Amino acid sequence: MTLIDQFGRTIQYLRISVTDRCNFRCRYCMPLEGLPWLPKSDILSYEEIAEVVRQLAPLGLRRVRLTGGEPTIRPQVSRLVAMLRAVPQVEDIALSTNGVKLPGLASELAAAGLDRVNISADSLRADRIVAIARRDLGFDPVQAAMAAESAGLDPIKLNVVVMRGTNDDEVVDFARLTLEHPWHVRFIELMPVGEMETLTDEHVVPSDEVLSRISTALGRLEASGGPARGNGPAAYWRLAGARGTIGVITPMTHTYCGSCNRVRLTADGRLRTCLFGDHEVDLRTPLRSGIPLEPFVRQAMAEKPQAHALLSRRNGGLRALSQVGG
Ligand code: SAM
Ligand code: SF4
Repeated sequence: MTLIDQFGRTIQYLRISVTDRCNFRCRYCMPLEGLPWLPKSDILSYEEIAEVVRQLAPLGLRRVRLTGGEPTIRPQVSRLVAMLRAVPQVEDIALSTNGVKLPGLASELAAAGLDRVNISADSLRADRIVAIARRDLGFDPVQAAMAAESAGLDPIKLNVVVMRGTNDDEVVDFARLTLEHPWHVRFIELMPVGEMETLTDEHVVPSDEVLSRISTALGRLEASGGPARGNGPAAYWRLAGARGTIGVITPMTHTYCGSCNRVRLTADGRLRTCLFGDHEVDLRTPLRSGIPLEPFVRQAMAEKPQAHALLSRRNGGLRALSQVGG
């Protein structure tokens, strides 16, 4: 059985926000004072999240990603990974993290059944990391990626949100990492969503510019198939002789809604069919009443919008990507 939306897109991929909280306050994502956090009783337990996945699996769900907020700050997140690993239809379990806790957690997550990891890393310079994340937690992106690699997580992706005047002078340094390491460095166009007082359209750096700066400094980029698993909306390139690849994710300059195969589960159990749309279906109420979820999921699919409205400045009332798992 498959879940097909009204535009013929097959839905196989669920992004699960396990918490709306975070130990960082990235300038493009969360206000410094934080957000009004969800009450604990509204947040799905690990058992409830696993039950949603168990009910979606026979409908065609094959890939899940744990995200947030910061998923690694929720206690015992490996326990959830193990529960999802036990669902036979689930082929791929990934994690999106700011990487702070990876050196201590990567082996435990891998042992629980995590396949792969995306690490957000907006700078390679310690002072800049603190200026962007607005927390000094001693984060070192290279150390986090090496910890993930030694734990056997594969592929390893580093996600860089490029901001003009803040970190755009580091794109070549990030690209250089792919010469030495088998990592996939992906440059993401800044999205003007939520409450970023100081970041505007002027800070968006089009991905074409990022690629041209890299090829000017480091030589020709060959189009590449990218990592074997989880290609999603990125386009990939490779420097001659490089072990890793360079990807670009272009929500602002080229939309990829036509091939969107994903839906999102918020930490409080709402199924959100588009990152920026305001279509949400409550799964928590039926789940807690023991009512089967399939009709609610099919309703959500029928309402999945054709494309997001971000370019026309409508973001579905979203205050921050952390509220829906990015
Ligand atoms: N805390 C985890 C992390 O940072 O990877 C997972 C949640 S975070 C919301 C998911 C992704 O969204 C991160 O890669 C982050 O850089 C990205 N993101 C958040 N706000 C963004 C924005 N305004 N524009 C572009 N990317 C954004
Ligand atoms: Fe936290 Fe990730 Fe948002 Fe940064 S991007 S504030 S790490 S949720």
